[in-house]
Amino acid sequence: MNEKLKDYLTDTLPLQADWVVKLEEMALAENVPIMDKAGINLVMQLIRISRPHRILEIGTAIGYSALRMLEAAPDASIVTIEKDEHRYAQAMEHIRELNKEQQIEVIYGDALDKLQQLSENGSTFDLLFIDAAKGQYQRFFELAEPMLNPNGMIISDNVLFRGFVANPEDVPKRYTKMVEKIRSYNQMLMSHPDFTTSIIPIGDGVAVSYKKS
Ligand code: SAM
Repeated sequence: MNEKLKDYLTDTLPLQADWVVKLEEMALAENVPIMDKAGINLVMQLIRISRPHRILEIGTAIGYSALRMLEAAPDASIVTIEKDEHRYAQAMEHIRELNKEQQIEVIYGDALDKLQQLSENGSTFDLLFIDAAKGQYQRFFELAEPMLNPNGMIISDNVLFRGFVANPEDVPKRYTKMVEKIRSYNQMLMSHPDFTTSIIPIGDGVAVSYKKS
């Protein structure tokens, strides 16, 4: 996205609570790729409108998006999966500091295994937020989608990956495979018979998929 437009969208956002600013600063300082401010603002707005009771997040990092989603749906319960041990510990600490451990369950491990276990336990969700390894979105979708209730929503972040997804001829070689995978993921979402999807060029690109009943 055009930098001026991006800055404008960020600048229009209202001031946030101290804990939000602290986590954003920490992510910046430690180079943790949390969702950008306009992107999480969109996710929170979709949550306020759709009022999910149960949310599943793939990719917790330091707990920022899980805590922001809970801010938008204070009565919801959130399950979130993180495979990096250090980030898992940081997320647990931030969630405890804000006394939200009753509502946010952080599962430590690879989502490819943990999603299978959740499914076998009969878990269901109203909203899935996919924000982990971009090359694996298709697999995350296949494992998590059966747990999504009818009229539920899937939000997938980074689906335009730095603009490269729309400009495949300009992709640096190291990203070629990943961009191909994201393009095929987007194509799958757009043509899926059980979903309607809209891709929104906010942040790194957010796909919003609505499951038909
Ligand atoms: N959703 C977070 C936020 O906005 O605050 C940011 C998540 S960050 C973009 C992606 C995270 O997913 C990383 O912390 C990474 O360790 C984790 N991750 C990547 N692949 C994963 C997998 N297969 N299972 C679980 N976590 C994974």
